[in-house]
Amino acid sequence: MDKSKRKVVIAGNWKMNMTFRQGVAFINELKPMVQGKDGCEIVVCVPDTDISAVSEAIKGSNIKLGAQNAHWAKSGAFTGETSADMLAELGVEYVIIGHSERRQHFGEINRTVNMRLKAILGAGLKPIVCVGELETERELGITTEVVSLQTKVALHEITAEQMKGIIIAYEPVWAIGTGKTATADEADRVNGIIRDVIAGLYNKDTAEATTIQYGGSMNSKNAAELLSKLNVDGGLIGGASLKTEDFTAIIEAAQK
Ligand code: PEP
Repeated sequence: MDKSKRKVVIAGNWKMNMTFRQGVAFINELKPMVQGKDGCEIVVCVPDTDISAVSEAIKGSNIKLGAQNAHWAKSGAFTGETSADMLAELGVEYVIIGHSERRQHFGEINRTVNMRLKAILGAGLKPIVCVGELETERELGITTEVVSLQTKVALHEITAEQMKGIIIAYEPVWAIGTGKTATADEADRVNGIIRDVIAGLYNKDTAEATTIQYGGSMNSKNAAELLSKLNVDGGLIGGASLKTEDFTAIIEAAQK
């Protein structure tokens, strides 16, 4: 398997942090720090209220813009929601979907992840699809079953051609925001399971071309080891994406 064929994507998930002014100040600090670090795609997934300002702030830089969710409908009576077309018009390129915090607090289920994924692809955006087991599921020894099911339902009716624009993020829920990280070998193992699921749904070439990130307390200290693994093609980073030094150190670790 040739890992170098795949795009490495380091994406920060700001969650519900940073007002638009704080976001712009962050980007202005980050830009010179990551200039020329083109060995990976650099993405910041910001709150919806920051999108316009950050879209302006990243102009002329190698930083790409992401959102943290999108509704499945094109438009309509969905108070409080944002459509993929609305995000696209503002310069968003990537959209996180199925994040465990959406699953835990906002009723996200595998079926709605699939609906969002189709809408995001329809708007010409790149989905980052999060999958990952709960701690209890890990203890029960059903990690493989859980991530396989999540991946299969998320990718229902998605073609091999469409897979070219999709990123999967393996995020064990027990590792998110807890300081507990999956070992590099374990992240590699589960990412490999997800890759096998994709090979089963499509074919080996499609599986080998798919970027599969790891997320869950990735930081400046553990990033290099995690990213060195054959099946780990980048990271989805929460806490450590909120400090320019830490985020830059992870981006540096991702340079080949
Ligand atoms: C995340 O929010 O996707 C995440 C991985 O968070 P953290 O890095 O803080 O664990």
